[in-house]
Amino acid sequence: MDKKYGAYICTGCGIGDALDIEALSGVVTSEMSMDCKTHQALCGSEGRALIEGDIAGGVNTVVICGCSPRVMEDEFNFGDDKITVRGNIREQVVWCRAEDADPEYVQELASDYVRMACTRAQKTDLPEPYQLEEMSKKILVMGGGVAGLTAATEAAKAGYEVTLVEKSDKLGGKALEWRKQLPTKAPWTDLEDPSVSAMVSEVEAASNITVKTSSEVARIGGSPGNFGVTFKAADEKSEWDAPAKVAVDEQDLIDKGEMEDPNAGLKPYMEENPDAEKFGAVVLATGWIPADVSEYAHLGYGKFKNVVTNAEFEKMAGAGKIGRPSDGKSIESVVFVQSPGAADNDNDFPYCNSVTSAVALKQAKYVREDNPDAKAYILYQHMRTPGNMELFYKAAQDDDGIFLTKGNVMKVSEESDASLTVACDDTLLNENLAITADMVVLAAGMVPVTKNENSINLAYRQGPAFSDLDLFDGYADSHFVCFPYETRRTGVYNCGGVRKAMTVEETIDDATGAALKAIQCIESADRGVAVHPRSGDKTYPEFFFQRCTQCKRCTEECPFGALDDDEKGTPLPNPTRCRRCGTCMGACPERIIGFKDYNIDMIGSMVKIIEVPDDDEDKLRFVCFVCENDAYPAIDMAGIRGKAMNNLIRFIPVRCLGSVNMVWIKDALSSGLDGVMLLGCKYGDDYQCHFVKGSEIAAKRMENIGETLSTLGLEPERCAVHEIAITDFDKVGGIVQAFVEEIVELGPNPFKGF
Ligand code: SF4
Ligand code: SF4
Repeated sequence: MDKKYGAYICTGCGIGDALDIEALSGVVTSEMSMDCKTHQALCGSEGRALIEGDIAGGVNTVVICGCSPRVMEDEFNFGDDKITVRGNIREQVVWCRAEDADPEYVQELASDYVRMACTRAQKTDLPEPYQLEEMSKKILVMGGGVAGLTAATEAAKAGYEVTLVEKSDKLGGKALEWRKQLPTKAPWTDLEDPSVSAMVSEVEAASNITVKTSSEVARIGGSPGNFGVTFKAADEKSEWDAPAKVAVDEQDLIDKGEMEDPNAGLKPYMEENPDAEKFGAVVLATGWIPADVSEYAHLGYGKFKNVVTNAEFEKMAGAGKIGRPSDGKSIESVVFVQSPGAADNDNDFPYCNSVTSAVALKQAKYVREDNPDAKAYILYQHMRTPGNMELFYKAAQDDDGIFLTKGNVMKVSEESDASLTVACDDTLLNENLAITADMVVLAAGMVPVTKNENSINLAYRQGPAFSDLDLFDGYADSHFVCFPYETRRTGVYNCGGVRKAMTVEETIDDATGAALKAIQCIESADRGVAVHPRSGDKTYPEFFFQRCTQCKRCTEECPFGALDDDEKGTPLPNPTRCRRCGTCMGACPERIIGFKDYNIDMIGSMVKIIEVPDDDEDKLRFVCFVCENDAYPAIDMAGIRGKAMNNLIRFIPVRCLGSVNMVWIKDALSSGLDGVMLLGCKYGDDYQCHFVKGSEIAAKRMENIGETLSTLGLEPERCAVHEIAITDFDKVGGIVQAFVEEIVELGPNPFKGF
C-alpha cells in the first residue's frame, strides 16, 4: 500500500493546557516528516470531519495522538482500507502527571509517544484475511447427554448441520436414570420431572442433525473451518487411540535421536485422511463421571453394601421405590454424607460443589416421598445453595423429617442386622452424634471426563489431548473467568459437566453458549478473522521460512497447538487454530515471524525512536512492554483516576508478554535505555493470562536474559517482569516507581552513548 500519512493532535481533555502543542506538532512534521493538524476535540463531528476531509484528499494512514486506543474506537474507525494508529498522550501523559511534575519532562514524554505512534504507522501494513481453501460449516457435537442434546438442537435451530456422536447405544446420558430434577421455577421447592426424553425426541426429529450412537471419534485433524474427523465403533481400538504424550524436553531428545519416539509408526499428525468427514467446529459435551470415594476407608464404601454414592442412589431412585441394597428392605432412615470428615474434616469430597449439595437435598426428598415416616440426615461441612437454591434448602429445613447439621463424620460402622451407625463429631449443637440408618449416601464429586480419558484424539503435533490438563484438575478450559467454553484448542468448545459441575438448567444455558461459540468460530474462520480473544483480528502470523532453522521453539511454545511440523521439521502453521497472541513471534530466535500490524521491526523501531538524553543523569529512560489485555487498561485507569505515574518510563502495548522477543530488550539497552520492564498477567495455577501461558513464558525468558546481561557487565536488575491484574490500577504507579528508583540507584546504563 502506498501510504499517505495524516497526523492529528487533539488539544481537548486538558491536553492542550498541559503540553506545548506547537512543539509537539514540530516533532511530527520535522522529525517524522508527516503533515500534522490539531483540533480541540478530534472525536467530535468537527474533528472527525477534519480527518475525513483529508482522507477524501488521499490520506490513508492516520495517526491520532490524544486519548487511549482503548476508547473512541468507533469515532476513529475510518474503514478497513485505512490504517489508524493511536498515540496515548491523554491517560498515559497528561492525566497521570504528578501535581509537581516538571513540564519539560512531561513534554518529552508526550514527544516520545508521538514519535512512537508515527513509527508504528510507518511500520504497519494493511492486513489481508486468511481464507481457507475448503470450508465446512458443519458442527460436531461429542456426547449425547443434556449438554450435547442442547448444543445440537440450538446449533440446528440456528440453521447449521450437526452430527451428534454418542458412545453408548442411546441418547440421553446420565439424566435418563434420574427420578427427578431440581426446581427451576418459583416457589423453588418442588422437584420436576426429567426433561431429557423430550430433548432426545427433539434431536431425533430434527432433519439437520445426524445421530451416531455406539460411536466415538477416532481422530480429529485439521483446523477450525476444516476439521477432518473420522469415527469408529465405541470401544473399538484405533491407531489413534492414546498416542503417548511427549513432553517438550522429551521431544528435544527425540529430535536429537537420543530417545525413541513412543509414537513412531503412527501416522504423521498432519497427514489427511481421505475418509474424514469435514466439520467447522466441535462442541465437547462428554460430561462427568462420579469421583472415586473408595479411598475413605472409615466410610465403608465398597465394604458395606448399604453405603452407596449419590450417583448410585439416584439410579436406584430412578428405577422405583428405594430398597436397602443388602436385602431390599424399605428404607426408614438415610444419612447423606457431604464431607469425608475424620482427618479431612474441613474438606469436601474432591470435585464436590453446589450441585452435589443440591442433589443431597433432592435425594432427601426422595426418602420422604417413598416413606413419609422415613428420616433423612444431611451431614456437611459446607452446604452450597447459590441463588434460588437457597429457597429449596429452606424448604428442606422446614421438613420435619429432614435433619441438616454441620459435623465431622468420624466413622461408619455396620451392625449385625446390616444397618449402619454414623458417628459424627462437632455438630452445630456442639454434640457428638451416633445416627443409625438403613443407608449411607456419599457425595461423590463430578469429575470432568477429560481428567481421565482422552476423549478427543486430536491429530496435533502437541498431542491428542488438551495440554496441561493435570495443572487444571482435568478441565480443558483456556480461561475459566474471561472465556468460558474455550478450550486450549481453538474451535473446540466445552460445555456442561466436562467444563464445570452444573445443574440441568445451567447445563442447558451452558450448551447454548457453546453452540453459539462454535457458530462464531465457523463464521470467523469463514471471514478469515480471529475468533477470540482478539475477535475480528484479520492478521495472522506470517513466517519467512527461508531463514527458519527448524529450532521448533515456535511450535513448542504456542499455547494453542496452532503449529504442526512438516516432515522436515519446519513449522506448519494452521492459521484458523491461531489466537494471534504472538508467542511464536516472541520465541523465534531468527525473528522471522510477524503480523502485518505487529512485528519485530515495528516494536524494535518504536523502542529505538525513544529519545535518550545521553548527558543528563536526571533523565534516565525506561521502556515498559505492557500486556494490552489487563496491564495496559490498569495503567489507563490509573490515569483516569489522576494517579501519578513516573514520567521517565514509556509504555508500549504488546498483544501478550509471550510475544515479547528478547531482541527488543537488547535493542532497548543498546539504545541507551536504562531499564526495561515487562508488565503482564498473573501466571501459575490461578493464571489470568488471556493466552494461558504467555506471561509465564516471558518470565522464563527474562530469567535467561538476566544471565546474558550479567555476562555483558550489565546489572540483571535492569530488566524486570511484574504481574498485575486489571484491578491493580492503584498499585501500578507504585510498582513502576519502585523499579525506576532501583535503577536510578544503580546509575545510568554504562552503554549509553556508545
Ligand atoms: S500467534 Fe499464538 S496462537 Fe498463533 S501460532 Fe503464534 S503462538 Fe500460536
Ligand atoms: S522459532 Fe523461528 S527459526 Fe525456530 S522453528 Fe520456529 S520459525 Fe523456525
